[in-house]
Amino acid sequence: MPTARCMKCRTQVEIKDPEEVILKNGLKSLKGVCPNCGTKVSRILGKASEEEIKAKQAEQESEEKEAA
Ligand SMILES: [Zn+2]
Repeated sequence: MPTARCMKCRTQVEIKDPEEVILKNGLKSLKGVCPNCGTKVSRILGKASEEEIKAKQAEQESEEKEAA
């Protein structure tokens, strides 16, 4: 299980419901919630490749269209 630092628990926790996201600055990060307190936690995985950024952008755009 991936872990991240929870600001509220002030400790390393397992990421619950982890979801990979590409940040605007081109970094890949894992977003989820702390299993102890429910606070949102995230962890930077590293730089996303150009293909990953493009794939994610296309995916997010189609999701936005579906939601609208
Ligand atoms: Zn926590």
